[in-house]
Amino acid sequence: MTATRVKVTIRCNSCGEKFVLRGRRDRGRIDTGFKMCICSNVEDFAIEEMA
Ligand SMILES: [Zn+2]
Repeated sequence: MTATRVKVTIRCNSCGEKFVLRGRRDRGRIDTGFKMCICSNVEDFAIEEMA
């Protein structure tokens, strides 16, 4: 397994809400299990990986 644990900040581009989650990075893709913002936005997010 090559997955790396990362801390990720997800900001909703619709309402501006921020979520800090733990996720896994696997081959350049980050998987956090995050599905939906509280405003029902499901696809318009800015995802930022934290050190
Ligand atoms: Zn939102």
